[in-house]
Amino acid sequence: MKTRFFIKNPIYLILLTLSIATILILLLFGTFKLEDKIEDKMFEISTLDVISITQNSANNIENLLNPEKDYISQIQKDMPLRHHIEKNLELLLTKNIKYAYVIYRDKKGTFRFLADGSDPSDKAFVNQKLDVFSPKWNEIYEIKEPLMIRHTFLQELSMSYLVPISQNGQVELILVIDFSIKKIENINQIIEWMKNAILSIIVIIAIFLLVLIIQTIKYTAVKKTAYIDKLTNVYNRNYLHELQEFVNLNDYILAAIDIDHFKKVNDTYGHEVGDKVLKQVANTILLNIRTKDDIVIRYGGEEFLLLIRTTRDDHLSALNVLERIFKNIQENHFHVTKKEYIEVTISVGVNLVPEKSRTFSDAFKLADIALYNAKNKGRNNIEVYDEQGNGNGLTLSINEIKDAMEEQRVICHYQAIVDAKTQEISHYEALLRVRDKEGNILMPYQILPVIKGTFILRNITKTVLKICRKKLLERPDISVNVNLNPQDIINESILKMLIEYAREDQLGSRLGIEIVESEDIINCPDAKENLLMLKNLGYKIFIDDFGSGYSNFIYLTQIKTDYIKIDGEIIKNILTDRVSYLLVKNIVEFSKEANIKVIAEYVSNEEIFSEIQMLGVDYAQGYYFSKPADLV
Ligand code: GH3
Ligand code: MG
Ligand code: MG
Repeated sequence: MKTRFFIKNPIYLILLTLSIATILILLLFGTFKLEDKIEDKMFEISTLDVISITQNSANNIENLLNPEKDYISQIQKDMPLRHHIEKNLELLLTKNIKYAYVIYRDKKGTFRFLADGSDPSDKAFVNQKLDVFSPKWNEIYEIKEPLMIRHTFLQELSMSYLVPISQNGQVELILVIDFSIKKIENINQIIEWMKNAILSIIVIIAIFLLVLIIQTIKYTAVKKTAYIDKLTNVYNRNYLHELQEFVNLNDYILAAIDIDHFKKVNDTYGHEVGDKVLKQVANTILLNIRTKDDIVIRYGGEEFLLLIRTTRDDHLSALNVLERIFKNIQENHFHVTKKEYIEVTISVGVNLVPEKSRTFSDAFKLADIALYNAKNKGRNNIEVYDEQGNGNGLTLSINEIKDAMEEQRVICHYQAIVDAKTQEISHYEALLRVRDKEGNILMPYQILPVIKGTFILRNITKTVLKICRKKLLERPDISVNVNLNPQDIINESILKMLIEYAREDQLGSRLGIEIVESEDIINCPDAKENLLMLKNLGYKIFIDDFGSGYSNFIYLTQIKTDYIKIDGEIIKNILTDRVSYLLVKNIVEFSKEANIKVIAEYVSNEEIFSEIQMLGVDYAQGYYFSKPADLV
């Protein structure tokens, strides 16, 4: 676990290594200091006696001199006196004190010998110049006290010890001894060894650090490519997985974005142009987010997830980001060639309250549900997930849906479609429901987003078909409609079932097929052909949600539909919105001519019902008559 932590955060390892290196450098510095300390101590011990003896010697010399006459000229002129003094100096010489002599400073400030205790071969003569390398020597004339001047030699501890001899309060002569001792070899060696050891450790650590830094750079580079989508340069699915572990749901709102009718772009202009559009859409998103705060992930082919940073009680600026993206994509010209461009729209599902979900994927699902609703409402809009409007907020995972199928918890509720003249039930629409383990009933929008694009969707359709067959066999007095989507119509096993139901159970005339109006059917010759085949078997075709998106009368003639169901959103507004009213009026007029029956959905009260009756709508469905429910 710990190593994982370090691997994930190599910066910690670097910091650790750096601090160890710092400690070692301090240690190294410490050994230098230690060396100095030892030297000082040795010096102190060795010079202690020397100092007092030298002081005595200076006193002796002073006693030899006549205080009435000038000290310097006395010694210069009086050879016996000088010898006497030199004898005294000789007594000072030892193994460590190599030189002992008396000097004076002439008028020009040059130091000159007066007496020298060295043996004759080495002896300086009177007035011989003495070169000193430190200006410190002159200080003694001011302080008038003994002075120690240390010299730095590698193998030796060495110093000159100066004692002043004064006359009438003025320093006239200086007694100097040069003292030097060899450093103690052993101590030196140990210190050297310590220094080398520490130095080598530092070198090793430095190499280690270097390797680590290189590895870290490599690691971040690899990590980056692993998390970034090559085509669009935003984060990819891998990052989505990683993100779930650390993201704080309090800090963001979630938005699921899906490009509308993107298949059409690919089909019309080719995959390469599709890719280009994808890139540009991603770019537009990137340009409008706040780079430091917001996160963009491409989690599907043309699906993006946005985490927009927000504070708990103010979603305004986060929603502004979203609004900007939405508008900019809408207004952008996506160039196919230099002259030709297409306009792209997106549908967006927003979850404003991710913190209410238990896990990230739950929160994401709610955004996806909102996206699903945005698509259902005709695309090109932003839909916010709202708990009231969307029931209990429950969703199921793919596995839970699989379990539900196995345990026969996939069921149908039925909603009546009544004859507008007699108000008698003429059909039922079978609506998919799933009962979860706790007995809650889940609606299609809570189920379908999860299984969209998986084979389970097909299996659910088959299950619904089987349930309807059973119901029709139990109740020979009713007709039931099922909802199929374009993919179902071209699916062989579903077709096989429908053929079998018509031929063997004679259900063709009582099982209606509701299919949402979409270009997919028109663009797919197989689908059109299959629908005709089903019609020949006796099935009635109902075009669902007519007027919601791709409304077009030519479509109706191509499909040869028997019924059209006018989109609920239009019916809902028929009393207040003139365009909705006119739409219904025109659809009814056209349908009468074309011999197509018209059904109005979402008939929720008497006023709406009267209005559509007056307009000549043939059938009505909605809460005014009944809610979807189990049918016995
Ligand atoms: P809508 O979302 O409005 O329901 O319709 P749509 O046509 O966009 O439908 P859907 O989201 O189901 O289809 C997405 C299409 O995106 C399917 C696939 O051909 C295309 N697609 C997925 N990934 C890529 C890609 O990387 N490049 C291109 N060019 N196309 C892709
Ligand atoms: Mg999609
Ligand atoms: Mg799409």
